[in-house]
Amino acid sequence: MKSRDYTSLMAELAEAYTRHSPKSAALQEKAIKTLIDGGSNALRTIRPFPPRIVKAKGAWVTDEDGHRILDFWQGHYANVLGHNPEVVVQALAHSFSDGFGLQNGFTDRLQVEAAEILCRRTGAERIRFTTSGTLATMYAMMLSRAFTKRDLVLKVGGGWHGGHQWGLKGVGFHDGFEGLESEGLSTKMAEEVLITGYNNTELLRDHFRLYGDKLACFILEPVIGAGGMMPATREYVQNARELTEKHGVLLIFDEVISAFRFRAGNAGFLYAVQPDLMTMAKTIGGGMPVAAVGGRADIMNQASLDHGVKVTFQSGTYGAHPASMLAARTFLDHLVENEAEIYPEMARIAVKTRETVLSAFAEEDVYARFAGDRNGALPGNSLHMLLFPYEKELELNKPEEVRNPSLCDLTLSEKVLQLALLLENVYIVHGIGCTTAAHTDEDIELLGDACRRALRRIKPYLSS
Ligand code: PLP
Repeated sequence: MKSRDYTSLMAELAEAYTRHSPKSAALQEKAIKTLIDGGSNALRTIRPFPPRIVKAKGAWVTDEDGHRILDFWQGHYANVLGHNPEVVVQALAHSFSDGFGLQNGFTDRLQVEAAEILCRRTGAERIRFTTSGTLATMYAMMLSRAFTKRDLVLKVGGGWHGGHQWGLKGVGFHDGFEGLESEGLSTKMAEEVLITGYNNTELLRDHFRLYGDKLACFILEPVIGAGGMMPATREYVQNARELTEKHGVLLIFDEVISAFRFRAGNAGFLYAVQPDLMTMAKTIGGGMPVAAVGGRADIMNQASLDHGVKVTFQSGTYGAHPASMLAARTFLDHLVENEAEIYPEMARIAVKTRETVLSAFAEEDVYARFAGDRNGALPGNSLHMLLFPYEKELELNKPEEVRNPSLCDLTLSEKVLQLALLLENVYIVHGIGCTTAAHTDEDIELLGDACRRALRRIKPYLSS
């Protein structure tokens, strides 16, 4: 399908948005003089400019221009209880005023308590903290390669595991998922990464048949983020476990997004599959930069002094930072204690969000669907990638479909809708983003109304 031309609509929206947000617009002019593209993360430096935020609470953020913006980005999917949850804010405020919070370079009780919760709720035997999901997946791959004494890493096309060298292959769709995401990578490392298909058991079997005895690990998101915000099927995950076991390959679940998002623990549990290693971040930090690798003691202990530090897993100067550990322990405790209320409410609001958005698009006669909608593995999924497929028959259950611009109108879901909704003071990423326990029924109805108004601007351009 030929892509639609949104050039004049985007120019019109950008102009209206510049009038709508003059202070953020002026800050962008200033920002690009010192910061690449005016910021520090490509997903946040949106064009023509991002709203500059001064305050964030619950489902809402406030920008420099004084707009209250209903937010479905929610801290890069970290905030399952919305922005600045009281339980963490109080704990941090109290602690800072009591002389504990900034870097001290020691270790403390909080880190032990946070690790105990993670082990108890995920089945991991050992934990080591670090500061980002990127570092966590990199260390998990190093541990796997050292343990198996093999070089190759298998990942799925469309899977994003962070910006280290083994992660920067097969993420974006460039006529398939074989490409590199960056210049400056070591060619050796690019050769060490093989790409298979998400929710494609047949292809996975082929890859294990061909390369099984050379693979160190298979890294997999039980619920994929950037590749479609959809769950893996049970059959796929169970096959992944069987194949990895059969070939002596370590199974890593990348739960940077999914840990503590769908239950007070790992998402792998929902599949009754225990990986050898798992990586966690985002939610587990309670809004602070916390990530962790967890897993089997025999694999993790390669980083121990008792085993000669075979794998140098130094999590960095700010690893297990005091305030971060306080936020993590406090937030994890809270999620565990209130699991029975929080997660059913998140699932309820997620279902309502999908129904409300789909009915808004149906009313305006625009065909829209959510990625993974026919898969059924995770009812109440709070991650939402809205798509505009060109054909109704598409399964939309694989990154090969949902990230393919010739099958889905990705400019509409990723760029046009985002800007049109910003004019309605609603912020979405990847065609909605995520819902949290802080989003109310009223917020979701507001989203539905905003979609209707945005669509009225967009519709005249859809026939081209
Ligand atoms: N793994 C997954 C599944 C992610 O979604 C991300 C980030 O979005 C990462 C790893 C990298 O985490 P970070 O951004 O904390 O480095």
